[in-house]
Amino acid sequence: MTATRIDGKAFAARLRERVGDYAATFAEAAGRKAGLAVVLVGEDAASQVYVGAKGKATLAANMASFEHRLPMDTTSEDLMALVEKLNNDDSVDGILVQLPLPDHLDEQSIIAAISPDKDVDGFHVINAGRLSVGQTGFVPCTPLGCMMLLTDRLGDLSGLEAVVIGRSNIVGKPMAQLLLDANATVTIAHSRTKDLASVVRRADIVVAAVGRPQMIGKDWLKDGATVIDVGINRLPPEPGKEKGKLVGDVAFDEASEVAGAITPVPGGVGPMTIAVLLRNTLVAAHRNAGLEAPADL
Ligand code: NAD
Repeated sequence: MTATRIDGKAFAARLRERVGDYAATFAEAAGRKAGLAVVLVGEDAASQVYVGAKGKATLAANMASFEHRLPMDTTSEDLMALVEKLNNDDSVDGILVQLPLPDHLDEQSIIAAISPDKDVDGFHVINAGRLSVGQTGFVPCTPLGCMMLLTDRLGDLSGLEAVVIGRSNIVGKPMAQLLLDANATVTIAHSRTKDLASVVRRADIVVAAVGRPQMIGKDWLKDGATVIDVGINRLPPEPGKEKGKLVGDVAFDEASEVAGAITPVPGGVGPMTIAVLLRNTLVAAHRNAGLEAPADL
């Protein structure tokens, strides 16, 4: 069997276009654009790239982007004061504090200071709680993006065996919760799981969110499984090259011989994250403006 390649890049592009169209309609109805504020503390190179990309994508989707770049030595009080200001700013629908924060700042207390109704990253404990009891809130962007790819591919997930590898608060746990809500039978595997290969081999759906390059080979997979690879890992550079290749947690080529469908890295889950962030921001804007968000957003 040769697996179908799940094209997250194309899916994300369609979602961004839809968000852009709905954002234009929102702006007319609300008399203002939906707004996303992104806060970056310090000069981490990767974070600067992410923040720049989010700002551009926000503008391209007909929304307002507010970037706040703060120096590395910003105090907790100053950062909290900015978050509070954004919480009270009616032109801001979504607030994202780019992680990781410098060591002297406590991520949990900063996230806790964001209004749950503007927490478009879905990292606030209130939103984690809402997800776990089935109330409307915000779901972290990467797992929600994985879920969109899965339901697009498989339709009804009812009764399917799903194995999520990884139990982080931002990917593994919310992913498992979403699959459970969709009536899959869910196992969360992690670094202490015994005989991981045989656990994964049971799965109709495998979501890998570990951060170990090409850990999952073809002999771990059931025939026809749908494989969502969240991992982003850089291999050591080949001789003469400056940068190593980006790979996922799944050995893509050999896994494609067994899987029914699989996301590539890059071009699979990665592009979904920003697209879902824009989607969450536009949903927040509708809620804040007392308008109903379109059903297919
Ligand atoms: P994390 O380090 O917080 O969690 C990794 C999880 O993997 C842990 O729960 C751990 O128990 C599990 N694990 C570690 N070693 C294992 C092993 N040998 N066997 C089984 N499980 C093991 O990571 P995270 O933030 O959840 O991210 C996971 C991966 O997804 C990373 O590669 C990250 O770069 C990537 N990621 C991608 C996106 C995106 O595509 N936009 C977003 C977030 C994370």
